[in-house]
Formats: sequence, structure tokens, C-alpha cells
Amino acid sequence: MENGWIKFETALDDLTLAEMEFDQYSMISFETEDDLIPGLCGLTNLGNTCFMNSALQCLSNIPELTRKILSFGNEINAPIIGAYSTLIKTMWSGEHVVTIPSSLLLNISENLPRFRRYRQQDAQEFMNYFLHLIHQELTSERTLITDLFYGRIQSSVKCLGGCHSIETNEEVISFLPLPVANDIDEYNILYLQSNDFFREEPLNGDYYCSKCLDLKTARQKADLVLPLPPVLIIQLKRFTYDLDSSAKIDTYIDFPLRDLDLGQYIIQNNDEKTNVSTLYDLVAVSNHTGSLVAGHYITYARNDRNKKWYSFNDETIREIIDEHDIVTKNAYILVYIQRTTL
Ligand SMILES: [Zn+2]
Repeated sequence: MENGWIKFETALDDLTLAEMEFDQYSMISFETEDDLIPGLCGLTNLGNTCFMNSALQCLSNIPELTRKILSFGNEINAPIIGAYSTLIKTMWSGEHVVTIPSSLLLNISENLPRFRRYRQQDAQEFMNYFLHLIHQELTSERTLITDLFYGRIQSSVKCLGGCHSIETNEEVISFLPLPVANDIDEYNILYLQSNDFFREEPLNGDYYCSKCLDLKTARQKADLVLPLPPVLIIQLKRFTYDLDSSAKIDTYIDFPLRDLDLGQYIIQNNDEKTNVSTLYDLVAVSNHTGSLVAGHYITYARNDRNKKWYSFNDETIREIIDEHDIVTKNAYILVYIQRTTL
């Protein structure tokens, strides 16, 4: 059924034809399965809401999150989860090629006035707030949001002023913000390896050592703490804001579609280390094109049913034939999922 047309006599029996009330044509038009792949559902732009649509397409293509959301019944007394669950059910029903996320937007707007319509917004900020709102509605300390997205990093500061003491501080993160350098054109190697976030950095004379009781030179370093999150959201910090100016950094960053290995960033001397998968595969990218004031968001994501990549541009979806097209200088949010060891 290449083009959606099949011949009567060979492909369908008489009873089926009778049921379909076809009798005077030798060929009939068929909607092929390609037209109705669950998950391939565009989202209508409701007035500068491409940031929301892009974030929602990223989240929709996180298999474990969507599985959990689809398992929720209608009994949940939580407006945002209810609206999101309805949206995800529509998107994954295989019956719609486009839907309007107005009910979800309405519920989010009521909770977060800053996300009202007609204003250019940040897809990463939206995604983070949205996940936080779902977490809040679930009203327990541990939720599917903390289970899937929350990780921990430990920052260590080592005094180089003589005492060599190490001060550590642990914090919970729901995404990993990575600085993007603007003084070079391109990162040619696996980005994380060259990134300041995980590298030992000298602190020059502005660290107050509690042992030396004085300002000293020190080194700081950040490490991931186990367990690693099943879903890792990386924000490439392309937008810089300060009092004088705001800018977007267009540096090209080469990130892997599969086998992102976080093993080397995990804090050392941890017994659990050998038992966990440190490999991550990419499932979605939120891309930002244009400038800070006039930009547009498009998501590239991998459909979990057929493992093909698609571009989600509001209502328009097209297949990405060449995987090399996924990595561009527009990449802003990367969504990786941990490879299961099963
Ligand atoms: Zn010291």
C-alpha cells in the first residue's frame, strides 16, 4: 500500500467490500498507517505560543513520562495534569494530526500569569515551570516528576591556601544548565568534555576558607551524584541577560544522538557506580531560530513507536530523513533518556 490505493479483487474480500459499500470502483482510496502514527500530532499556535508547543512536543516524546500520563484516569482532581493528560491522550490516539492546546494553556495561565498569551517566552523556563506545576499537583514529596527528572550535583571547593580542605555542597537539579562559550565558532568534540561546568576551575582569591580564616585561592569542581535521573534535560545557555544588553550565542555544538556517557562526571569513590547505566540517548531537541525579540521554536523528536525522527513546527510535522540534520546551532534544550540495562 505504497500510495494509499489498493486493488479490490486482490486485497479485500467481497464481504469486506460490501461492508464498506464500495461496488462500482476498481480502486479505492485508503488512509495508510503513515497518516495516523500515534504521537505525530501538531499543536496549533495560539499567538506566540511556539515556546509552549515546542516544550510540549519534547515532553510528549519522553516515553516513560507519556506512559505514566496516559495511565492517569479522569478521577484526578488536578486541573493541569487533567488538561495535560487529555492533550497527551489526543496526541497519542492515532486519530488526530493536529490539536489545539487551549485548555492546557488556560490552566497554566491561571497559575502562572507570566505565561499569558502574546508574549515571546522561553521554552526551557516554561518546561521547568510546567514540570514543577505537575509535581505540585501530585502533592507528595516524591512524584513521577522527581523520579524521572531530578538529579543531584555536588560542587566541591578545594582550598589551595595551605590547609587543602575541601568544602562540598549538594543541590538538587531538575535540568542541567550548561554555559555556551561565544569566543569560538564550534565545539568539535563531545561538548560536556570541554565544558566549564564539570571542569576544575581556579577561584582566584575570592574564596573565604573557614579553616585558614582568610581569602584564599581555591579550585572548584562539579560532579553528578548517583542515582542519575532517568531523563536528563540539558539547557544550552545561549541567552545572556544583563542590565546593559541581552544576546544570543550562536555557537555550534556537536552533541551525540546516542551514547552520551555521563560516567566520567559522576562523583568518584561511589560503590554504586558499576551497577548503573551511564549511557544516554537523545529523544528530543528544542531549537530556537531567530533573535531574542523575534524568535521561533521548533522541536525535533524521535517517535517511540517507529523510532523515526520528526520536526514539529506548531501544526506542521515532517519526517527528518538524515539524522545529521538534527544537530544544528539552533539547539537549545536537549532531552536525553537513560539507557535501561534490562
Ligand atoms: Zn584553607
